[in-house]
Amino acid sequence: MAMSNVGRPTQPGAATSEGHASLTGGRGLLQDEPLIFELGGWDKTGVDIDAPEHDASDLGGLVRAGPIGLPGLSEPETMRHYVRLSQKNHAIDLAIYPLGSCTMKHNPRLNEKMARLAGFADLHPLQPVSTTQGALELIDRLAHWLKTLTAMPAVAMTPKAGANGELCGLLCIRAAHEAAGQGHRRTVLVPTSAHGTNPATAAFVGYSVTEIAQTADGRVDLVDLAAKLGPDVAAIMVTNPNTCGLFERDIIEIARLTHEAGAYFYCDGANFNAIVGRVRPGDLGVDAMHINLHKTFSTPHGGGGPGAGPVVLSKALAPFAPAPWFVHGADGLELVEEAIGEAAQAFGRMCAFHGQMGMYVRAYAYMRSHGADGLRQVAEDAVLNANYIKARLGGVMTPAFPDGPCMHEALFDDAWLEGTGVTTLDFAKAMIDEGFHPMTMYFPLVVHGAMLIEPTETESKRELDRFCDALLALAQAAKAGDVERFTGAPYLAPLRRLDETQAARKPKLAWRPEPATPLAAE
Ligand SMILES: *Cc1c(COP(=O)(O)O)cnc(C)c1O
Repeated sequence: MAMSNVGRPTQPGAATSEGHASLTGGRGLLQDEPLIFELGGWDKTGVDIDAPEHDASDLGGLVRAGPIGLPGLSEPETMRHYVRLSQKNHAIDLAIYPLGSCTMKHNPRLNEKMARLAGFADLHPLQPVSTTQGALELIDRLAHWLKTLTAMPAVAMTPKAGANGELCGLLCIRAAHEAAGQGHRRTVLVPTSAHGTNPATAAFVGYSVTEIAQTADGRVDLVDLAAKLGPDVAAIMVTNPNTCGLFERDIIEIARLTHEAGAYFYCDGANFNAIVGRVRPGDLGVDAMHINLHKTFSTPHGGGGPGAGPVVLSKALAPFAPAPWFVHGADGLELVEEAIGEAAQAFGRMCAFHGQMGMYVRAYAYMRSHGADGLRQVAEDAVLNANYIKARLGGVMTPAFPDGPCMHEALFDDAWLEGTGVTTLDFAKAMIDEGFHPMTMYFPLVVHGAMLIEPTETESKRELDRFCDALLALAQAAKAGDVERFTGAPYLAPLRRLDETQAARKPKLAWRPEPATPLAAE
């Protein structure tokens, strides 16, 4: 049983060269890795280039005076450098990556193969459309699937992430209000449990943000919502299932109240993987919703990208969608690029060209390889897996909302750690020693010491059991008073505890050769 593997790290301090440290500072296969600029001299590269025959330059007086300081390494040195770096971080291809709200799922290699097909990967966005009909057809078919899965009449494909989709949706809403003489509506309502991008987007568009309270069972407080809806409200932004991993049971009433007050219903669709194929947001009264293709329909998105966040739109908002979009013309698909004629109300553009082609291909490959029935099963398995975790861990850790099942993520608070001297942060750090990426910590903010676990549909029962066994063993250690295991963790990672605030606030983004400086925020 995996629990027996979870002994105290045998060499606490090895990473700091106390105790049994290696002579090189390496740890088995994990070697210390300097920056590439600190490796090798400037004079060495992986290629030999003959000296130019004549020095005559067309650059006038702008010829470079000194070396530009590019690192010089042989090809094997370069390979090893990047392979070693790749081993220092956690990856979904190493173990479960249970980061709640982020939907870190396995990305089938088939998607990658399709995205690399030359006909998709080597196109130039300025090619004549007569030469790119296949790629345009893929975008058009993907748009069709998105509209069908959501029961919405229109979709803006170009936003490049969930947050970018939120921006697109709110810009459509603002344009619609202005067109209807309602430009004075200046407030957006956002529940307290919302993802940070929701209030940030509303503020970015120039709205003031008002919070809607949450009920004791983790849902939008309808009484508070009704009290705050009024002639000043432009929109509400609600995530469903919400960031507590719960379905908003009153979603139809929320939509009705919102529309009655003359406001639009923006749904944050980042959690669409929990309901895809089972519930169509259009049937619930949603006016705009972004879909994180890189979450629901897979794509590697650790490290911040790339992503794609198409926004489905209701009939009322569709005329304001940003260019470009496609129309089926006599000679195939044509791009509508200008806000003239039927497109006159388009609010503008979200990006220069057509959006993230590589993401479109991956998402479409995921859809087509699952089929309609498979996508329904995605939602079912995502929810089943989360409830399995809730059930297995729920006896020891405290579920934030114990009553009833959860959707695609299991949320725990830190009540069960009370009196142990171990915090949510310490517990998460100890998970690194066991070879797992921590869950999302301290989010949503409405739950004390929150631990949000999202297994996704791509994990097998065996992997879930491995994960649960490790967490239960850690939980036992915490309760048994083995505090040091947690407060000093991670013992076995290449770097130990970082000053994360310093690292976020004062990141060192440039390397300077002199004088030698210590590593950022270590
Ligand atoms: C991930 C997420 C977002 C933001 O999406 P990005 O693609 O990271 O910009 C917004 N809301 C929720 C609930 C999310 O989980």
